[in-house]
Amino acid sequence: MTTIFEKIIAGDIPSNKVYEDDETFAFLDADPVNPGHTLVIPKEPYKNIYEIPNDSFAAVMNTVRKLAPVIKEAVGADGINIGQNNDSAAGQEVFHFHVHIMPRFEGDGYTHWQGAENYHKGKSGEKIAKNISGSL
Ligand code: AMP
Repeated sequence: MTTIFEKIIAGDIPSNKVYEDDETFAFLDADPVNPGHTLVIPKEPYKNIYEIPNDSFAAVMNTVRKLAPVIKEAVGADGINIGQNNDSAAGQEVFHFHVHIMPRFEGDGYTHWQGAENYHKGKSGEKIAKNISGSL
């Protein structure tokens, strides 16, 4: 299935392109959290963090690293958040891997996630860490 982002790369759907190289493409998010909110995608339509190969991931992150300070300067932001969603449960809406570059402004009203779990209240951080490291 062709994603909307493949159509954007092909030029079949208009976008506000900010950057392109052999492997990556970057354009303004249509529903920005703040002006300058940019999406960086690989040209190959890998669905998510689980599917994208290391070299493509590195290419995307190189573009993110290149653009983040330029976007910050261009829109006069006070900070930048980098975001990346995988699966519907995590808020992924477009199943073509993408990284959000989100300019932030002092007092823009966004808050960081509030912790909902506390390892000291019945959950063992040690056990969870061992489960993860033991699976590597
Ligand atoms: P996610 O929830 O991480 O999958 O983010 C998908 C993002 O794609 C959202 O922030 C949307 O606003 C953005 N988006 C969807 N369609 C378009 C489009 N045609 N042009 C630009 N951004 C889009």
